[in-house]
Amino acid sequence: MTGGQTFTQLTTYLWVTQSDLYQTNSGIFLSDDAATLIDPGIAPAASQAIAQFVHKQGAKVTTIILTHGHWDHILGPEQFPGVQVVAHASYREVIRDHREDLQRQVAGWEMECGRQRATPFEPPHPDLVFEERLALPAGALTLQLRHAPGHAPDQIVIYHAPDGALWAGDMLSELEIPFISHNLAAYEETLSQLAQLEIRTLVPGHGTPAQEPAEIDARLREDRAYLAELRALVAAAIQAGASLNETVTTCAKMNYRHPEANTLPHRWNVESVYAELGGECTSPSGWEQE
Ligand SMILES: [Zn+2]
Repeated sequence: MTGGQTFTQLTTYLWVTQSDLYQTNSGIFLSDDAATLIDPGIAPAASQAIAQFVHKQGAKVTTIILTHGHWDHILGPEQFPGVQVVAHASYREVIRDHREDLQRQVAGWEMECGRQRATPFEPPHPDLVFEERLALPAGALTLQLRHAPGHAPDQIVIYHAPDGALWAGDMLSELEIPFISHNLAAYEETLSQLAQLEIRTLVPGHGTPAQEPAEIDARLREDRAYLAELRALVAAAIQAGASLNETVTTCAKMNYRHPEANTLPHRWNVESVYAELGGECTSPSGWEQE
C-alpha cells in the first residue's frame, strides 16, 4: 500500500494499481531502475501514489505511455512534468478535435470531487508517436506498442512478449462489453490480431487482470462473439429495411455480460454499428452523442 493505494505485481516487471473511478488500471513496468508508466492515475493523489511507489523501488520514471485519448486515461502526465509521453500518431488529432469535450469531461468530474483548477485542463502532448508498431526500450526490456483501433481511433496495446503480458487498453474487461466508440470493423480486426498473441497476463483498462488461460480465452472469445453477433443482427436488420429503433429492439435480446450495467453502451453500440453498416440515421446516434 502507498497512500492507501494497492500495488499488485503481475509479472517480474509489471505492476498494476487501480483508481476507484471505473476501476481504471494504471501500469508500471520496472526494469533497471527505470519505470515506464501506463495511464498513470486519474486523481492527483493516485498519480502521486504511483510516483511514491516508483521512488520506493529506487527507480525513476522515464516514460509515460497513454493507451488512448479518453479523458479518464490522460490526467496522469501533468503530475510527472518533463517525462516523455508516448502515444499513437492519431492521438494528436483526437486531442485537437476533442479538446473542449475533454476539458468539459474533466471539469465535470473534478467538480463532483470538489476540485477546481485555476485554468482548464490541457490534454498532454506526446513527445513520441508511432503509426503501426513501436519497439519501446523500458530499462532492459523492450515493449511492443501496437495500434489497436476500434474502441478509439488512437488506441494502442502494450505487449511484453517474454512474459506474455498484454496491456489491452479499454478492451477485454470482465465488467464491460466492447465499447465500439470508434469502429466495428477495426475492433474485430484488432481482436483477431490479439487472438494470435501468446497471452499469459491480460490487463484491461478497467476491471480485473486475468492470468488463468481459461479466463483469458473466454474474454477474447466472448468479446469476438459479441461483435460477430452484433454485426450479423444489424446487417440483417438493415437488409430487411428495419429502422434504427426496430434494430435497437431486435438487438436488445442479445446476451451480453452484466446486462444491467451495460444496457446503455449496448444500445449505443447498436446505433453506431447501424450507421457504420449503412443504415439511415437522421440525427447523431450511438457513441457520437456521448
Ligand atoms: Zn476509452
